[in-house]
Amino acid sequence: MPAQPRQDARPTSPGTALRHRLTELRGADLPPRPLDARALAALAANPGCRRRALLDGAGVDKTALAESLGSPSGFGQSQFAFMRGNAFEARVKADGGAELLRLTHGTLGGGPEPVPGEAAVPDLSAAGPEGRAARTALALREASAAGGWTLLDHPMLVLDVAGTPAFLEPDAVVVHPDGGWTVVEIKSFPMIDGSADAAKVGGAARQSAVYALALERVAARMDPAPPVRHHVLLVCPKDFSNLPTASAVDVRKQLSVTRRQLARLTRVEDIAAELPEGTTFDVRRPAAELTAAVESVPATYAPECLAACELAFHCRARARQEGEVTSLGRAIRGELGGLTSIGDVLAAARGEAGDPDDPAVATLRRAAGLRREALAGVGSPGGGATLQDVLTEEGQPCR
Ligand code: SF4
Repeated sequence: MPAQPRQDARPTSPGTALRHRLTELRGADLPPRPLDARALAALAANPGCRRRALLDGAGVDKTALAESLGSPSGFGQSQFAFMRGNAFEARVKADGGAELLRLTHGTLGGGPEPVPGEAAVPDLSAAGPEGRAARTALALREASAAGGWTLLDHPMLVLDVAGTPAFLEPDAVVVHPDGGWTVVEIKSFPMIDGSADAAKVGGAARQSAVYALALERVAARMDPAPPVRHHVLLVCPKDFSNLPTASAVDVRKQLSVTRRQLARLTRVEDIAAELPEGTTFDVRRPAAELTAAVESVPATYAPECLAACELAFHCRARARQEGEVTSLGRAIRGELGGLTSIGDVLAAARGEAGDPDDPAVATLRRAAGLRREALAGVGSPGGGATLQDVLTEEGQPCR
């Protein structure tokens, strides 16, 4: 009788073994939450956070996890904003992308004016994200060889992030007749008199830099490698209308920051290897078990997390509970040097601990002394300003 294959055979290749481990961590029957460029830009903004790197690498739904932990963040886009954004994008890309290509040519050039209806808009559909990424790479190759205007609507790009592939879907990529490739980002916030909210433009630039980086990986596999433009096209509604307008955004700085930060990300497999046996982030598990699992992975909370990560309320509560100075912000954390807890800082200020030659300790003591003097002066009959002096100006109560 021929030998039966083992039913419990485990995958042996490192990539398959890692995928298997990450699936176990997420919950075997839960689909992975794909990493998008917004998440990657946030990940790159906090590269030291092992917790986020692991949860994103394992495809854990952090919104659901935060709810299961009892700290929902309310993070994300409203349904109304989402629908408005989709409607605007459809308008920009209507008629084979005629308006979008006109804006691209008007803003970035790269060849003769596009003739409406003549640009190529290849079909990028394929099975699964890997299939779509392969189809996109082929379409980019063909478009570069053809030498005309080509619009790739929602192409699929792939980027290796800390050992796991992240599939990214920009709004569009345009191939110019001169062979250059441009990332297009379509946003629903308004551009008034040619400029838009700087914080929103900055977010769009960081996101676009991630797409440009992934495009460069595709270009690098071609010979000669087509140039990926480092100015992306940002398309927004003009003033308060629904008409599209565009502007070129230079993402060179964001590209080099993202490149550097992604290279520094700790590899997901190293983090997973340090977890206690049986750890799971399956969002259906009880809150106490999930809390223990989440706490087993070190995090580096900073106030910036509130705008970038679904677990921010949970991590902030823990950081405050532990008295971590990171909860006060990166700038203060940097100035405090080796003092990592609020207890250490207070003890140093009171002169109970800390090296007096340490500049941070010396500054804290001086600040504490000034505060003592100020408090002693206010209201004391003989010295300094009284509380009344502080509150009034030439005898008149402050308004
Ligand atoms: S909120 Fe927590 S998990 Fe998310 S990036 Fe900040 S520290 Fe890391």
